[in-house]
Amino acid sequence: MIPYGRQHITEDDIEEVVKILKSEYLTQGPVVQKFEDAISNYTSAKHSVAFNSATSALHVACIALDLGPGDWLWTSPNTFVASANCGLYCGANIDFVDIDPNTYNLCATKLEEKLKISAISGKLPKVVIPVHYAGHPCDMRTIYHLSQIYGFHIIEDASHAIGAEFFNSKIGNCLYSDITVFSFHPVKIITTGEGGAASTNDTNLAEKMRRLRTHGITTDKNLMDIMAEEEIWNYRQIELGYNYRMTDIHAALGCSQIKRIDEYINKRTEIAQVYDSALKDTNIVVQKILPSHKSSFHLYPIRIKKESMLAQRSLYEIFHQNGILVNVHYPPVHRQPYYKKLGFKAGDFPEAESFHREVLTLPIYPMLTAQQQQKVIDVLNEHT
Ligand SMILES: *Cc1c(COP(=O)(O)O)cnc(C)c1O
Repeated sequence: MIPYGRQHITEDDIEEVVKILKSEYLTQGPVVQKFEDAISNYTSAKHSVAFNSATSALHVACIALDLGPGDWLWTSPNTFVASANCGLYCGANIDFVDIDPNTYNLCATKLEEKLKISAISGKLPKVVIPVHYAGHPCDMRTIYHLSQIYGFHIIEDASHAIGAEFFNSKIGNCLYSDITVFSFHPVKIITTGEGGAASTNDTNLAEKMRRLRTHGITTDKNLMDIMAEEEIWNYRQIELGYNYRMTDIHAALGCSQIKRIDEYINKRTEIAQVYDSALKDTNIVVQKILPSHKSSFHLYPIRIKKESMLAQRSLYEIFHQNGILVNVHYPPVHRQPYYKKLGFKAGDFPEAESFHREVLTLPIYPMLTAQQQQKVIDVLNEHT
């Protein structure tokens, strides 16, 4: 079987995890901070806060930016449901901005048009979540510029995009956003099993996210009430938080994995280049990588155009019959049954919908061999 993505675990990774299992702290020990420092170091963000998933990080990021009932959160329909669900957790309203037909990212021009209209109806978003689809950075300069005019916060969903670059600066440095969220699920660029992180340059946001990760509890004397003065052993819950902590076991795997991140990105880039040249003179359309944008190539999406011999669905089946587990990223979030109940309908975001009807995501991961990749290309050549 050739999956569309999978983790790469070395003996060193295993050794680092075992070390923690034999140590004093399985959780709330020193390794989580170590992993956070490694992420900050890599992205150049001032602060990184580790979570037990990107979903938790997105939720806490929304709370930290005061998203609540009556507010609006906008994101891309071409994403995993978690990018939108985080707003629903906070009681906010969700809306989407359709995608760019070439990068498949939230389209900054359509965002501007929608903002203009919403400014009149008074339904401007409080938070916008651009998603760096497949690892290709969104148009962050334009989105940031619009945030200055229309007064919204930005959370980058960089679940696909640790290691990606936008005009020579790493995604996650939060140059154009309040917070950037990463996922360390096994299909993503580096893994901790389950896990995520939020990066920010804002010290207050970082402290708030740390607190919300642990029940809203603080031991900071300045934030405590008077009674705590004599109770030096005590803590105070000052807001409603969660248990969204990453364990030291997971963080140890992350510390070990992040050392190889550039190696992983390079390997993914090489694989993408092989696909690029194999598909160059075919009627298959690939994601456009813009100049000065470096993708982390979490996914390799192709579009099966109508002129192709086989439709998306038949090709999907042929791949699977050949043990090649291509996937469809993503069914548009607004077409999920839960979101239909919220009032979204077919035709609301036509570009994302037509993309969904054509896309297949091909296998791409560091340990994909040249032979395996050739098999994928052969099946494509034979049937398109
Ligand atoms: C994987 C993913 C998430 C959720 O990540 P978890 O770590 O599994 O919670 C969120 N957004 C996008 C775009 C993703 O691909």
